Amino acid sequence: MDLQRRRFLAGAAAGAATIATGRTSPALAAGGLPRRVAEERRRAVVVGTGFGGAITALRLARAGVDVLVLERGIRWPVAPGSNTFPRLFHQDRRASWLTPGPVFTGSLPAVWRPYTGVLERVHGVGMDVLCGAGVGGGSLVYHGMTIQPTEAAFTASMPAALDYRAFDTDYYPRVSAVLRPTPIPDDILGHPRYRAARQFHNRVVAAGLTPYRVPLPIDWDVVRRELRGELPPSYSTGDIILGANNGGKRTVDVTYLAAAEATGRAEVAELHVVRDIARDPQGRWEVQADRINTDGHVQESKRIIADALFLAAGSAGTTRLLVKAKAKGLIPGLPDGVGGHWGNNGDRIFTWTPLGESPGPLQGGPACIALRDNSTPDDPLLLIHGPVPFPIDLGTTTVNGLGIVEPRGRFVYDALHDDAVLHWSPTYDAALALRIAARLRQVLGGGIVGGVRNPLLDTTLFDPTTYHPLGGATIGPVCDPYGRVLDQRGLYVNDSALIPGSTGATNPSLTIAALAERNMDQIVAQDVGTVF
Ligand SMILES: Cc1cc2nc3c(=O)[nH]c(=O)nc-3n(C[C@H](O)[C@H](O)[C@H](O)COP(=O)(O)OP(=O)(O)OC[C@H]3O[C@@H](n4cnc5c(N)ncnc54)[C@H](O)[C@@H]3O)c2cc1C
Repeated sequence: MDLQRRRFLAGAAAGAATIATGRTSPALAAGGLPRRVAEERRRAVVVGTGFGGAITALRLARAGVDVLVLERGIRWPVAPGSNTFPRLFHQDRRASWLTPGPVFTGSLPAVWRPYTGVLERVHGVGMDVLCGAGVGGGSLVYHGMTIQPTEAAFTASMPAALDYRAFDTDYYPRVSAVLRPTPIPDDILGHPRYRAARQFHNRVVAAGLTPYRVPLPIDWDVVRRELRGELPPSYSTGDIILGANNGGKRTVDVTYLAAAEATGRAEVAELHVVRDIARDPQGRWEVQADRINTDGHVQESKRIIADALFLAAGSAGTTRLLVKAKAKGLIPGLPDGVGGHWGNNGDRIFTWTPLGESPGPLQGGPACIALRDNSTPDDPLLLIHGPVPFPIDLGTTTVNGLGIVEPRGRFVYDALHDDAVLHWSPTYDAALALRIAARLRQVLGGGIVGGVRNPLLDTTLFDPTTYHPLGGATIGPVCDPYGRVLDQRGLYVNDSALIPGSTGATNPSLTIAALAERNMDQIVAQDVGTVF
């Protein structure tokens, strides 16, 4: 048994009194003895319950495969009037993943005991990633902007092996049939709480352009009930970036994953953090996972052996597991492209302070008005208004811009912390950032209103973050066109890690989900019953 493999097994035997930050811990159980490791044998294991993981679980279960789904976070059940999630300006320990304070940009300072909260900030060099943590993954915290890229933009940014027409006619409609996104209705957009969204809308019209009402997978009647005062506000004050408290959002835990569990074949194990993955001498897949409590303390370590392992821990989560496995020799022969071809989907976030006409406090959401700028068809931009739940009128709001970015980021192994760290340089998207800023200035009348300019501030310059991490185990360098890791029979990637950096100037969830459906068509048809 080689040294790295011995360490892997020792890691599986590690345990108590540790905080589960995603790093392997060498701790011992009380008394200094190695913790007992529970061993399990499974046919198929999925890591992660976001878009990719939930769809993978459902498709496997429907194909008659018993599947164990490992999710590091907790369930977040919501119903009208619930107080499941914290609020942006009244945060508590539910807001962040095992961190002693808030992680969301612009949060008020606070200190608390770490908790398995809903949002993780993955610190990188030159760029941090924000991502969901919990059963439902990013769908818990996302606004729900569900946008299909144009053919030209898809072709310019997605792997060449993917056929846009099949996405257009089959995979995108399939996802939309489940999430049922619809644009904001007139009566809601006309409500006083939606002043900020209307302002953006009106500026687009004034620029001679056509505003785009963003399809959102929410029940607008829940918003109406908030506006009538029947429910405490959540959507209608834009206070949903840490979760939508009244429900009505078709997150993947209540759609795809619930359907998977209803088959009786999918078992979702929450509070299970996958530390390492390896291939055993028989070519089976070994997963080292810790079951933790909500303080992050390890309760039990597990070694799970599977015939098929599906990685769907999100771009950062999946990539970190693969980079670690490659660096430590746990999976011999992993492609050299592991960790690379990563991009931030061209994300920029600006504050916009339209002098002379304040967007007001408590700005109604979700983000519902955008401009799709296809004037350069194969290099388009998407500009979106982002409401903020300011408790008082600060006269400002936010706008986001997206475009196609070169996937030049890379996750690199850090032996000191036994983790993989993202490396990004601001030069990679500097030109795109300037283009987005210039277009915003044109459209928002960055011009002159009442004799004064309307200030736009690019917050990404001083706080480089993205909500849209893409890549790290991409189709081509690392995986075949269906997410099979090259030369690793039974190992699959089926999430945002497959996509090299951009989804054609759109928010990525619809494309991630459509790609996951497409991949599972092929895997169910060809691999179920043969590979596993
Ligand atoms: C604040 C915010 C707003 C957003 N708004 C939008 C939007 O409006 N529209 C849009 O299209 N996109 C939006 N996104 C992006 C979208 O959420 C992601 O692109 C999408 O969720 C990625 O899907 P995925 O399946 O790749 O991974 P995820 O949805 O991130 O799911 C990965 C899952 O794996 C789990 N996991 C990770 N590591 C481990 C581990 N080691 N062990 C066990 N489990 C693990 C995580 O807890 C998570 O549940 C937003 C993101 C954020 C953060």
